[in-house]
Amino acid sequence: MIFNEEKFLSKISVAKNKNEVLKINSELKKYLKELYSELKKIGEEDEKKLFGKKINDFKNKIQPEIEKKLKLFNENLDNISYDPYIFKPSIKIGNSHPLIKLYKKMEKVLINLGFSVVQGPEIELDRYNFEKLNMPHYHPARDMQDTFYVISPKVLLRSHTSSVQIRTMEKLEPPMSIISPGTVYRVDDIDTQHTPMFYQVEGLTVGEKISFANLKFVLITFLKEIFGSSTDVRFRPTYYPYTEPSAAIDMSCPKCNKNGCATCSKTGWITVLGSGMVHPKVFEDSGVDSEKYTGFAFGLGLNRLAMIYFGMNEIKKFYENDVSIWNQL
Ligand SMILES: [Zn+2]
Repeated sequence: MIFNEEKFLSKISVAKNKNEVLKINSELKKYLKELYSELKKIGEEDEKKLFGKKINDFKNKIQPEIEKKLKLFNENLDNISYDPYIFKPSIKIGNSHPLIKLYKKMEKVLINLGFSVVQGPEIELDRYNFEKLNMPHYHPARDMQDTFYVISPKVLLRSHTSSVQIRTMEKLEPPMSIISPGTVYRVDDIDTQHTPMFYQVEGLTVGEKISFANLKFVLITFLKEIFGSSTDVRFRPTYYPYTEPSAAIDMSCPKCNKNGCATCSKTGWITVLGSGMVHPKVFEDSGVDSEKYTGFAFGLGLNRLAMIYFGMNEIKKFYENDVSIWNQL
């Protein structure tokens, strides 16, 4: 046994942190102090010399090991750019944005109805945003969706996610049932109902013998799932260049239950969706056999639906990050 050498070395090797090493260091100092007082007691010169050498050898062996281990822990701490020991009990866990919350609910309903989710580019070609949707460059319907051009006149910020439907029809063989959610852009001044960027969810089903009855079933089921089973739904004839026949879809005002209020402009009904049977010209331009297949499409503005769902009166509130509003929803 030479001065508990093994005991110190094994303690150093298993030390898990800086504090444990510092504790071993003070143990060592205490032990050396005891050894030096032993040394003083030795009267015989040669024996004293020999004992003194042994103490030094022991010290020179243990101390560098302690320093090495300390350096290791110090280096590791230097590599950490934050203090992992700070405890902040007041941190508040965040919440999903209301638009995401409602979208997730809608997505679940539509997936259960057999739809798959497809994404597409936000910077789009005129060809996919207008031309192949039966809106050639001279078509007046383009004015309703006046948009931002990245490289005029061929590259633009998409004004609807219908462009994703065209891209999907070009790639896949029917039957298909897809939804295309995402941001869209239109030249609108900011007011209570409009922002130049908003979110859309569009749907498309293509197959053999798909009829208007399928469209009605999907959209009535969808609205009842989101707004409750007592929701009434009505279909009004309207015009879109890419569907024929086309229908605007109103639902009974969830706020006043058809009695008339400010939300529904005293009519009892709110228009929430556009829909229709896909125009044969759109099928042909996308490589789908319009003799063999039929299909329906629909589109909704997520922000608008979310305003009704959460009872909000200003669309821009969605982008203001006012936590006091989110806490009320
Ligand atoms: Zn109302």
